[in-house]
Amino acid sequence: MIKSIEDKGVGGIVRVRFAPSPTGDLHVGGVRTALFNYLYARHTDGRFLLRIEDTDRERSTPEAVQVILDGLAWLGLDPDEEIVYQSRRMELHRAAALELLERGGAYRCFCAPEELTGRREEARRQGRPYKYDRRCLHLPPEEVNSRLDEGRPYAVRLKVPEGEIRFQDGVHGEIRVSGEEIEDFVLLRRDGSPTYMLAVVVDDADMGITHIIRGDDHISNTPKQILLYRALDRPQPEFAHVPLILGTDKKRLSKRHGATSITHYREAGYLPETMINCLGLLGWSPGDDRNVINRQELTQLFDISGIQSSGAVFDEAKLQWLSGQYISGTEYASVSGELGRFAEMAASEGRLEAIPPPEQIETAWNLMRSRIHLLSDLFDRGLYMFRDPDTYEPKGVRKYFSGENI
Ligand code: GLU
Repeated sequence: MIKSIEDKGVGGIVRVRFAPSPTGDLHVGGVRTALFNYLYARHTDGRFLLRIEDTDRERSTPEAVQVILDGLAWLGLDPDEEIVYQSRRMELHRAAALELLERGGAYRCFCAPEELTGRREEARRQGRPYKYDRRCLHLPPEEVNSRLDEGRPYAVRLKVPEGEIRFQDGVHGEIRVSGEEIEDFVLLRRDGSPTYMLAVVVDDADMGITHIIRGDDHISNTPKQILLYRALDRPQPEFAHVPLILGTDKKRLSKRHGATSITHYREAGYLPETMINCLGLLGWSPGDDRNVINRQELTQLFDISGIQSSGAVFDEAKLQWLSGQYISGTEYASVSGELGRFAEMAASEGRLEAIPPPEQIETAWNLMRSRIHLLSDLFDRGLYMFRDPDTYEPKGVRKYFSGENI
């Protein structure tokens, strides 16, 4: 009997991870994945780890990595252990592939990319699905040796065993895939570089990850990864695939819907706690229909069984409303630094003549916080608090500004 994903964490220590690939942007969907992992770790007294999947040297610039680190730090989603950089582990990935070669779980494929493309094209013309035809699996050992002696480049492919692959997904329930559908996928490319499929499994195994909570887009990778855990004889973690985030039109959330990067929300004047609340309820529910829930409550209530299997809608209008709720309850002291930053910006853009003294910002904050939605609103909609009026109506002034208490 397959144990439920909830049971498993009770005995051992839960170890989960967020494994972003740096792209220069931290998408709200990525943050939601990080948050669910973090909450699950906190809820189970487990460990939340961060692995930067920086094997794409072109995209993975130090700046792109920094965007992720800054975003997570702003949200208070700090990893419990040292950050793992995938690119520094390539030798270990290679060693795992070589170990599999030795054990007979993988084999060398000498087929050149052009040949493979040709065969794929041929299959397409004939209208049949393409799958690597395993011709290199059947090469006699002498032939393999002589090709190696010639120095011919080769890829390493996993020998996919027959039979069905089944797993229990914490969100989607039982998933079955026939081994027939899976080709002998590549573990090491001809240039010796490990593929994502190999790296992710070796890293998760070495990091002792017990539960993989990640986006739905990885569901089709899971059977292959399970085969690799088996081939490498490493314990298989539990999987939970979280549905995509949708825009209000129910299409996959993209830039068409507005900003998708967490940096944007920070710069727009949202509080980290607002984002935690909003993303925590995006595809997960505590079982009631509340809209406001703080980090402590999320931690207390979060479990994988509360993750919904259908896509969750990210609605910026709702987020704004929520932001107003948080702003109105926020004391000046906890946002003084951020407000100072917005004041500086307003001054540098000429909306303010000078940066107001902190006492003035505090007074304005206390008067305005129940009426604004964003930190930045104080120096936008609330600008009149800091400036003398440009014009006034003398009549109105005589009429209204004359009493004792004015
Ligand atoms: N690096 C992958 C991504 O950003 C995630 C890998 C995983 O979670 O298994 O999509």
